[in-house]
Amino acid sequence: MFEKLENLKLKFEEELNDVNSNDELEKVRVEFLGKKGLVTEELKNLRNLSGEEKKNAGMKINQLKSYIEKAIVDYQKVLEEKEYQREIEKSERYDYSIPSIKEIGTLHPITIVQKQIEDKFKTMGFIIEDGLEIQTEYNNFEAVNIPENHPARDMQDTYYLENGQILKTHTSAAQNTIMKKYGAPKPGESLKVLFPGRCFRNENLDASHENTFFQLEGMMIGEDISISNLIYFMKVLLTEVFERDVKVRLRPGFFPFVEPGFELDINCEICGGSGCPTCKHSGWLELLPCGMIHPNVLSMGGIDPDKYTGFAFGLGLTRLAMMKYNIKDIRLFNSGNIKQLKQFIK
Ligand SMILES: [Zn+2]
Repeated sequence: MFEKLENLKLKFEEELNDVNSNDELEKVRVEFLGKKGLVTEELKNLRNLSGEEKKNAGMKINQLKSYIEKAIVDYQKVLEEKEYQREIEKSERYDYSIPSIKEIGTLHPITIVQKQIEDKFKTMGFIIEDGLEIQTEYNNFEAVNIPENHPARDMQDTYYLENGQILKTHTSAAQNTIMKKYGAPKPGESLKVLFPGRCFRNENLDASHENTFFQLEGMMIGEDISISNLIYFMKVLLTEVFERDVKVRLRPGFFPFVEPGFELDINCEICGGSGCPTCKHSGWLELLPCGMIHPNVLSMGGIDPDKYTGFAFGLGLTRLAMMKYNIKDIRLFNSGNIKQLKQFIK
């Protein structure tokens, strides 16, 4: 009896050693522990025994049963490890017969528009500056004439970092730093700077609102800068981007950092002005706020507002790219979907 059990144990161990899959393991389990399994049969045979003999045999058989159960559970883990190793080996194997990928990347639509404007403005003497994405509240708000409790802050809710800094809500956050860096221009000269950048706001996402978007801001400061300079550069900019005449309209607009301020709208190229979800059925898209830099802003930048004037414009670079490439949904830009983004680039 006990020799038989010992042989069953050896048989089990031998068979377990050859197991390579969960299916095979299950077969072994059924062979020994199934309804008609070898160990189960031994338990059934107990009824032919009696007394002390039955007790001892029962104990031994149950010990073997427990041993097999545990061995099967342990072996499952061994199989999992083997499977994992196989996966790793597979992923590290290269197939040199696969043809190479001929597709190469393209620039992002926003980058293309940005470069186009930068190149044009560089030829007109503009310096390109890179504004920080993480800013102090001072630079983002106070320094552009948006003091604490100003209603404009509600419209520019953003992401606050634990150290009290914020993700900038507009490229204007760089104005103060740039003014301090370059200072007032020499007599007869002007300070012309272009500063594109990624901006962030707490927005409800839809076809025309994203929490992450790009702006491109420009400013020109000098002794005789006027609205006519502003209009001239706006026309140059839009002609450059669209390579044709586009309809624009100027509306008086209030922005704390300019006085007077304007809102420059461009007619919606997607619907041709008849109205669509992108333009909220108005036929027009807000493209850029612009105006003459507020004296307070010049002052805070260390430039004498009695002597100097300047204009500033903050262009919605993301919106402009939508117009140029006829992209209907702003969310596509950050989607990381290269196939979809590439289709817009000729
Ligand atoms: Zn439209």
